[in-house]
Amino acid sequence: MEPPVTTPFAARHIGPRPSDQSAMLERLGYDSLDALMDAAVPGRIRHNEALALPDALDERSAIARLRELASRNRPGIAMIGLGYHPTLTPAVIRRNVLEDPAWYTAYTPYQPEISQGRLEALLNFQTMVADLTGLPTANASLLDEGTAAGEALTLIRRASRGKDLRPIAVDARLAPQTLAVLRTRAEAVGIELHDVDLGATGLDADVAGVVIAYPAADGAVTDPTSVIEAVHAGGGLAVVVSDPLALVALASPGSMGADIVVGSTQRFGVPMFYGGPHAAYMAVRDGLERHLPGRLVGVSVDAAGVPAYRLALQTREQHIRREKATSNICTAQVLLAVVAGMYAVYHGAEGLRQIALTVHQHAATLADALRDGGVDIVHEEFFDTVVARVPGRARSVVTAARTSGIHLWQVDGDHVQVACSEATTLEHLELVLRAFGVAAPTLLTGRAHLPEPLLRRDEILTHPVFSEHRSETQLLRYLRKLSDRDYALDRGMIPLGSCTMKLNATTEMEPISWPEFAELHPFVPAEDAAGMTELIETLEGWLAEVTGYAAVSVQPNAGSQGEFAGLLAIRAYHRSRGDDARDICLIPSSAHGTNAASAVMAGMRVVIVAAGESGEVDLDDLRAKCEQHRDELAAIMVTYPSTHGVYEEGIAELCDIVHEAGGQVYVDGANLNALLGHARPGAFGGDVSHLNLHKTFCIPHGGGGPGVGPVAVAEHLAPFLPSHPLHPRSDRREGVGAISAAPYGSAGILPIPFAYISMMGGQGLTDATSVAVLSANYVAARLRDAFPVLYAGEHGLVAHECILDVRELTKRTGVSVEDVAKRLIDYGFHAPTMSFPVAGTLMVEPTESEDLAELDRFCDAMLAIRSEIDRVADGAYAADDHPLANAPHAARELLEWSHAYSVAEGVFPAGVTQDKYWPPVGRIDQAYGDRNLVCSCPPVEAFDTVSG
Ligand SMILES: *Cc1c(COP(=O)(O)O)cnc(C)c1O
Repeated sequence: MEPPVTTPFAARHIGPRPSDQSAMLERLGYDSLDALMDAAVPGRIRHNEALALPDALDERSAIARLRELASRNRPGIAMIGLGYHPTLTPAVIRRNVLEDPAWYTAYTPYQPEISQGRLEALLNFQTMVADLTGLPTANASLLDEGTAAGEALTLIRRASRGKDLRPIAVDARLAPQTLAVLRTRAEAVGIELHDVDLGATGLDADVAGVVIAYPAADGAVTDPTSVIEAVHAGGGLAVVVSDPLALVALASPGSMGADIVVGSTQRFGVPMFYGGPHAAYMAVRDGLERHLPGRLVGVSVDAAGVPAYRLALQTREQHIRREKATSNICTAQVLLAVVAGMYAVYHGAEGLRQIALTVHQHAATLADALRDGGVDIVHEEFFDTVVARVPGRARSVVTAARTSGIHLWQVDGDHVQVACSEATTLEHLELVLRAFGVAAPTLLTGRAHLPEPLLRRDEILTHPVFSEHRSETQLLRYLRKLSDRDYALDRGMIPLGSCTMKLNATTEMEPISWPEFAELHPFVPAEDAAGMTELIETLEGWLAEVTGYAAVSVQPNAGSQGEFAGLLAIRAYHRSRGDDARDICLIPSSAHGTNAASAVMAGMRVVIVAAGESGEVDLDDLRAKCEQHRDELAAIMVTYPSTHGVYEEGIAELCDIVHEAGGQVYVDGANLNALLGHARPGAFGGDVSHLNLHKTFCIPHGGGGPGVGPVAVAEHLAPFLPSHPLHPRSDRREGVGAISAAPYGSAGILPIPFAYISMMGGQGLTDATSVAVLSANYVAARLRDAFPVLYAGEHGLVAHECILDVRELTKRTGVSVEDVAKRLIDYGFHAPTMSFPVAGTLMVEPTESEDLAELDRFCDAMLAIRSEIDRVADGAYAADDHPLANAPHAARELLEWSHAYSVAEGVFPAGVTQDKYWPPVGRIDQAYGDRNLVCSCPPVEAFDTVSG
């Protein structure tokens, strides 16, 4: 057999060695990877040419290429503001969170017993947000300020059960990108927006709600109380968009009656990253917590009554509620929320107050010096941002500043905006003043420019966690303690179906923290981000090539947002042809929950298409539905390979049926890891797809984000890709609207897929897919007799994942799929995806990066678990006291072993060595936590289980 052609990097990325691959192929009865792929992938969709990508680079050359691109960016000193500020990431947090695989390779904490570390970190984030906003409940987290404000719009509607159809007022003083995202969201679902400048006037209209800027994007600080009272008097809700650093110094919106507060925590230690990723937040008043979108960490108890963290209210999530979901947020911004939370843990209330005060003093010093120098200031009261009036001179001032390495913001021909940050120094202020023509500035820390009645008077961050980690040693150990509690890819396999938990190579990760990428403000002049934009446009081109589409936009910052963008493109296309009535979106019953939720967000009606016997879309039902809705059909959303992990033979026919009825085909690209190099959705019938760069293209999962969800479209949909009012390319400023707050979404992590594709090349990507399929089939073959593999294609093959059916065993023995998942923890594994897309099953996706020894360790564990189930069945284990029912076993149980089976059977089952992973808690009671909702740090005494 020919060993596959591998580049030096591909040989590191792909786990099974060539000899292992041969052995695996032999077990499956194929003599080459090509033969396996020929059998598995339907011929009709096969892409038989090599991908047109550059030759693969080795790791050193890839870094050199990235260095060259980075060198063409000029981040300078960004004093632009508009929601993005330089920040000083404490090095201990940068290296030990942002750059630490124990944090960045973790999965979303659906298995709370092995996620206690990041859940605690997220609870710190929630507590910080709740304290700063003055509201009791905060989530962790949302994608960016714009989308968070968009979620608030729909929350207003939901809170009235959809009955309050009055317009929602939006403050013209919000950042332009926040306004843009609000417009896109509102237009899609038919919410009417009422523009009002709350700086100039009060709230005069009859509205369902209001979105208030506090402070305004131009820096002005005005008291929102009267607006909040006015909207309450009319029975509406008040949303306040706030900068958390300003809230350290200013009275909290909660104390003024705000119902919802949203914003971005970027400046809490997260680099600007040319616009993202950052963690946005949302906090709500009592009574609205069950409407909160996104993830909410709460406190519950484990089997022994020990307090333990877990995600609360998961029943609201889109994967269960589908078209009735509260939002489509799935991947959020966990890693960045951890960074922001740790920034608050490290600085504490005192440190944050000092930072906020210094930022304000710099702005005040600047304002006074400008005025002394004869330059007019627009607002007397501000936090960090000063707007200067320079009639006719704005452009020359900004240009002069740029020459000295400082980016200011030109508001219009007569006004320049200057934003101070934690990184601002007196030298920067001098350079700015010189750019204004103030030759010999006097820099005096003078009076404050904060409105006295709005000064913050209550205590913040009083929980001990915000004062116990003041030295670097303490914080280092705290970070280590938390990450040690968690199971991430740096410990072992995370075989999650649909989520493609593959290697996040170090070489891919390194460039993201280079200052030339990380410290770029998203609104610097295009020439100052030349390297970054070349990287992005090259990447968009490569993604178009591998998917067979004409154009790609990386703006959507999660898969869910890519879905929304793709559906908006379809809608705009139909409308452009006068097809206004097409608003039905067909979705197979097996689809991922975000699909239906996104369709609703895009203003579409969802019609479910049945699945056939073997999980495939029922083409007869599809024909019937297409016929029935012929004039209203907008689109179908299908996942390919299907969420059942099978290459459906009928996909090309499915596309034909939908096209024939006038609909567009949306191919959910989350499973691209089964196609790359072998089939291209744009070529086999798709009109639009989103990809998940945090699945297929190696962006780490970060414990639940960040992600990037590019939208890829065929030629006829290209005019309807996301636009952005401040896009560096002037031809992309008008269009369908902004999906994300930044023109290129989470641009800062795009070096990761760029490096991955550069180092794999077309052949490496193609080989990776083949090995991913080989590994899934190998696992299916080894486990099939113990756990039936639910679906398989023509040749008995699965695609890149397989579904193991536990239902029959559950019926016979009472051992549930959850018991198996939790027992895997005792064996040292993260559980596979549970009960999606079929209840009572486990979906396993090994990916190409897991080596054969790890695949075998997993299969051996599953087989051992199967024998344990047999012992339950034959009565060898007590029906209510066996290792599966009690899994996972925490170390604490050894103190008082109370089980009918031995300690060894419980905690050291077959194959487990002294390197065992110990879960910090036992099985967590989900229902208890939802009944007793606690979503910020509980008092420390709650954790004192010794004195009870
Ligand atoms: C992960 C996934 C999504 C959603 O992507 P996010 O980035 O989490 O928003 C959509 N569809 C499928 C099939 C997925 O697996």
